[in-house]
Amino acid sequence: MNPVWLTVLGTAAAVPSFEHYTSGLLLSYLNDEQWLIDCGEGIQVPFFRYGGNYNKLRRIFISHLHADHYIGLVGLIMSMHMHGRTTPLTIYAPHGLADILTAVLRASDTQLKYNIDYQSIPTNAARVIYQDKKWEVLAFPLKHRIPTVGFRISQVQAERRFLTEKGDGIPYEYIRRMKEGEDILAEDGTLLYKSEDYTEPLPALSFAYCSDTAYDESVIEYCREVTLLYHESTFLHSEKELAEKTLHATAKEAALIAHQCQAKHLLLGHFSYRHPDRRVFEEEARSIFPSVYTAKEGMKLNLNQLNYSKTHA
Ligand SMILES: [Zn+2]
Repeated sequence: MNPVWLTVLGTAAAVPSFEHYTSGLLLSYLNDEQWLIDCGEGIQVPFFRYGGNYNKLRRIFISHLHADHYIGLVGLIMSMHMHGRTTPLTIYAPHGLADILTAVLRASDTQLKYNIDYQSIPTNAARVIYQDKKWEVLAFPLKHRIPTVGFRISQVQAERRFLTEKGDGIPYEYIRRMKEGEDILAEDGTLLYKSEDYTEPLPALSFAYCSDTAYDESVIEYCREVTLLYHESTFLHSEKELAEKTLHATAKEAALIAHQCQAKHLLLGHFSYRHPDRRVFEEEARSIFPSVYTAKEGMKLNLNQLNYSKTHA
């Protein structure tokens, strides 16, 4: 099975620049699908540049209806239409998005070659908005100027690791099934290999996304012990007043949330143009939380690997 990868597509707050796109994160290899979280202006460019595949992209999750988090949908939807996409797409977003996109398509008399299913996300309480055999997506309220949600994407059932030292000579097909927790029986029903004797459970993988939001301790319960927490850090703590006024967070506050929810790793993003050298955000956060990554366009993180490692060197 492929590891789950997170690819950063956009890192800037509010407006794009020559160097940076606005918000967008791509998750790959969830049930062999790709999922996009937020879709800032022009995001189809980094999407195609950094490994996005329009036939694999099956779900898009939008946190709120500030333009830097969804306006790129128009371009992405049209690009996929031009490329001949026929695979259906599901978009999860707070109420209002379907009307906006429908109006845009109607104005240009565009009949898409694929179907879009719009799922409206409640923004006043935490709710599971998607679930299958392997993955669950929880949407939970964030504290921002308009209704906004964060997401927690969690593995429903953790995988098991095969203990190679115990299983010399066992056929690969049996190993694959035992890693999924299945005991191997002979044709007459007698037990050949018991899964738990040859495998051990791995911690379930999870990823949480908190953007845009002011510092808000109510998110801690939804982000508890995640493998990777993405938390916005639009400002530095010296700009706390500005952060409070705009209901955004500082790098220090992002680290405080990561610490309190006992995340394994923290990914900072949604940076203000005021600080072209993003190392200042990482330095501020590291004084509180040890394992910090600074989002950068094209950055790829292997979430399975992060799940087994304690800290980012
Ligand atoms: Zn916003």
